[in-house]
Amino acid sequence: MTDACVFCDIVAGKFGTKFLYEDEDVVSFADLHAVAPSHVLVVPREHFADLPAASTSSDAIGVLGKLLNVAAKMGESAIKDGGYRVVINSGPQAGQTVFHLHLHVMAGRHFAWPPG
Ligand code: 5GP
Ligand code: ZN
Repeated sequence: MTDACVFCDIVAGKFGTKFLYEDEDVVSFADLHAVAPSHVLVVPREHFADLPAASTSSDAIGVLGKLLNVAAKMGESAIKDGGYRVVINSGPQAGQTVFHLHLHVMAGRHFAWPPG
């Protein structure tokens, strides 16, 4: 738990957020400001500020694999047809606003490439 981190608070159950998936390392819940018909976040219980923070921690490598595995589960359960998009924004220029590592899993509409 890190002070003043909204996702640490959510993981700790402070707001009663409904978890769509949870295990000992990872939780998933709906994004507050969905940008697609289905938009969930996949979040490690442990606080890593961003992807490089997790990638340089030897004990986090397994969690990174698990995050992708859960993202696939969430994406597969959300799609009606056509697939889904998994995104990690790392750093302010990439659009990261919450500095607790998370994956966005979005489905239910067409996603343009390249992203804006
Ligand atoms: P980022 O911009 O860091 O990649 O994504 C942060 C995401 O967290 C945004 O899509 C935003 O809507 C979502 N978010 C921010 N605060 C909350 C919150 O308190 N609850 C939930 N469920 N999502 C949040
Ligand atoms: Zn946190």
